[in-house]
Amino acid sequence: MTNNPFDLSGKVAIVTGANTGIGQGIAVALAQAGADIALVTRSDASETIGLIEQAGRRALVIEADLSSTEPCNRIVSETVNVLGRLDVLVNNAGIIRRNDALDFTEDDWDAVLDTNLKVLFFLSQAAARQMIGQGGGSIINIASMLTFQGGIRVASYTASKSGVGGLTKLLTNEWASKNVTVNAIAPGYIATNNTAALQADEDRNRQILERIPAQRWGEPSDLGGAAVFLASDAARYVQGHILAVDGGWLAR
Ligand code: NAP
Repeated sequence: MTNNPFDLSGKVAIVTGANTGIGQGIAVALAQAGADIALVTRSDASETIGLIEQAGRRALVIEADLSSTEPCNRIVSETVNVLGRLDVLVNNAGIIRRNDALDFTEDDWDAVLDTNLKVLFFLSQAAARQMIGQGGGSIINIASMLTFQGGIRVASYTASKSGVGGLTKLLTNEWASKNVTVNAIAPGYIATNNTAALQADEDRNRQILERIPAQRWGEPSDLGGAAVFLASDAARYVQGHILAVDGGWLAR
């Protein structure tokens, strides 16, 4: 035990999409702060497992396809069966599809809304049932700049991430009194697979960099401190907040 309110020792966190990108950055930061991690992944996660174990924490791999709600209850029960409890859920897994609004297909709408919003809600529900039974917990949703802005050519992504902002507040209204904190992190422009097309497009890359006060793309590790804070006892009265980690993008 320690008096450090940011210490996550003894806590267990589920991180979805923890094999790569922002999910990996957050999973490793939570482990370095003391948490054991259940990584939900559909791909090889050996790199993340290695980094969690290097931090001296346990890593449990839960294979699941988050395009449907089917695995939600199993993700929570496997975590509790193997790691003993559940204190933190990070809803990170997400996808993006790009097309003009005039040509946008129903498939590109449904795929993004299902993973980014519907599964986020039902996994939160499964996690909160466990957390409330245990006395509390923390849910951290990964939002976006498009929780605040409109974006362009990403209709279903904007709808999903705007929805993530709304659900973060709704769930706070329902669960704050039950000791479950629900907050979101809104990453700015972070160098991951999700943004590979933007980074490769010389014009878009220049326009993006010109607007970021920090004058650089974010790295997945830049999200770690915000996640540790929101997962920790230090944030117990932080509720329904959407914390931008964006190098100053929204300040422009
Ligand atoms: P990424 O590198 O593409 O990672 C996305 C993660 O979600 C991967 O682990 C991916 O697994 C997982 N995933 C997607 N669909 C899944 C499914 N059906 N089942 C299981 N896992 C699934 O992108 P990222 O940038 O780290 O994105 C992480 C989150 O941050 C997303 O919610 C994204 O919208 C959000 N975000 C990113 C940025 C940015 O600038 N990068 C900005 C704002 C918000 P696979 O590797 O197997 O595909």
